[in-house]
Amino acid sequence: MDAQAIAELASSSRLAVLTNVRLIDGLGGPPVDQSYVALRDGKILSVGAASNAPATDLMLDGAGMTLLPGLIDAHAHLIYSGFSSLEAIDRCSIEMSTINAVLNAERVLRAGYTTIRDVGTIANVAVSVRDAIAEGKVPGPTVVASGPILCATASLGDTLPAHWQSSHGLGKLVDGPDEIRREIRLQIRAGVDNIKLAASGVEVGPYAWTWMTTFSEEEIRVAVEEAHRWGRTVAVHAQSYDSVRFALRAGADTIEHGTRMDDETIALFKRSGAVLVPTLSTLFSVLELGASLNLLPKQRDEMKVNEPLWIDSLKRARAAGIPIASGADLGNRYPQGSNAREIALLVRVGFEPMEALCAATSVAARALKRQDQIGSLEAGKRADLLLFDGDPLKDIESLQDLSRIALVIKNGRGVAGSFCPTSRLQ
Ligand SMILES: [Zn+2]
Repeated sequence: MDAQAIAELASSSRLAVLTNVRLIDGLGGPPVDQSYVALRDGKILSVGAASNAPATDLMLDGAGMTLLPGLIDAHAHLIYSGFSSLEAIDRCSIEMSTINAVLNAERVLRAGYTTIRDVGTIANVAVSVRDAIAEGKVPGPTVVASGPILCATASLGDTLPAHWQSSHGLGKLVDGPDEIRREIRLQIRAGVDNIKLAASGVEVGPYAWTWMTTFSEEEIRVAVEEAHRWGRTVAVHAQSYDSVRFALRAGADTIEHGTRMDDETIALFKRSGAVLVPTLSTLFSVLELGASLNLLPKQRDEMKVNEPLWIDSLKRARAAGIPIASGADLGNRYPQGSNAREIALLVRVGFEPMEALCAATSVAARALKRQDQIGSLEAGKRADLLLFDGDPLKDIESLQDLSRIALVIKNGRGVAGSFCPTSRLQ
């Protein structure tokens, strides 16, 4: 099949078949050699043994390759572009942030990611890039968009000197239930899919320590209630013991980082149905690159304190059977497009390779509340697929090797990969 045919694949009502592949379904089932997946109208029509593949002139032989669902990153910030501090993020103009986000969206797509959830941006950049991608104006994954991160004065996103009054940066400063409700309504008017809330401090923040809880339980409860009333999901940045507890009790959909969790919190988590997005790349990137990138002493020192607690909390969450999604939170230290590093890091701390792949497919889809559409290779699901030249189960690190990304299919259309050199979207 030539490049043009690959680009078209099943974008129309023509039937396309990828066959002779090793199939990983994204749900944790054993890999099945000699499989086919048939696509039509941007959806998966059927899956089965290659010997039963339907006949079509749009047939791609993937012998020696692995076919898996398009990867999903549940914790992305498309504006992150090598910034070494929160101040640097806030000092980047909205215009340049938009350009960065557009360029990063294409990098992420080329890495095999067909969906990302952006959990914090400047102004309305994530919504605009989401829409530009959906309209085919620029290449990129499907974007689940948030606005700026809601945080209390002096909390995560507050980079202001004490005598300055306002900011329009990564953080939107809101204090008390009324300001929180108003900001959520403003963000909904602006078109967000998800509300991001910072319930604890962060290593890189100038004022609040990571282990501080920076919203009251009432503020968190109001935020979740308001967002849910509008049908939006809520992702809560939570690195302190109380922030995780408060967020779970409030009914948050995902806990980001989850750095500190005691046994009582793990039990609460298990009952809640929420998904944990541990963002190991946040941790390991600072540990590995903090000195060479000359990161702030506060960030490096707090990360060393957090390291054992973070890994221990994650291991206990895993042992308890809490759903864990891959989200890399990268772009400032590890570059955009190396998102699959998070999958390898999950394996580094003890996940089975298949389990880590599920974290980046079906479980990530669940974190986004889109498991009915994406995250697994099943009939009826959206035709978002990754054809990979190799076997990620044998070498999980190889997923970061972009030369092995043979074909990225989004909505049934070949949009990136070495088989698809033009990489042009409609
Ligand atoms: Zn983040």
